[in-house]
Amino acid sequence: MPGDPQADCLFCKIAAGQIPATIVRETQTTVAFRDINPQAPTHILVIPKAHYTNAAELATAEPAIAADVLREAGEIAAEEKLDSYRIVFNTGAGVGQTVFHAHAHLMGGRGMTWPPG
Ligand code: C5P
Repeated sequence: MPGDPQADCLFCKIAAGQIPATIVRETQTTVAFRDINPQAPTHILVIPKAHYTNAAELATAEPAIAADVLREAGEIAAEEKLDSYRIVFNTGAGVGQTVFHAHAHLMGGRGMTWPPG
């Protein structure tokens, strides 16, 4: 069922505490942890605890939880004292999505170019 934990999903396991991660914040619906391979001085992933394969699927099924993910990203950016930052949702293998559990990349602490590569 959409939303239910998936046995083969890395981020479901992180959300359940079955795989270690450097947790930054946790709410009833979300978990935020530091990316294991950071691409910026601050690089934090915010995920819904429920399993949806990407952000659009999450927003369609659970708009309130999608909003929770974005609110958390903003509050963490403030905690990290980032006045500029980028929130990225890679969607599809063609643009680099490698974990098929919706996640926001919150990145900041360095300048960035546009358009992204
Ligand atoms: O958008 P994409 O699916 O590529 O992002 C997955 C992210 O999950 C990567 O930035 C990767 O470094 C991160 N990751 C992690 N901890 C793991 C496995 C992957 O932070 N155990």
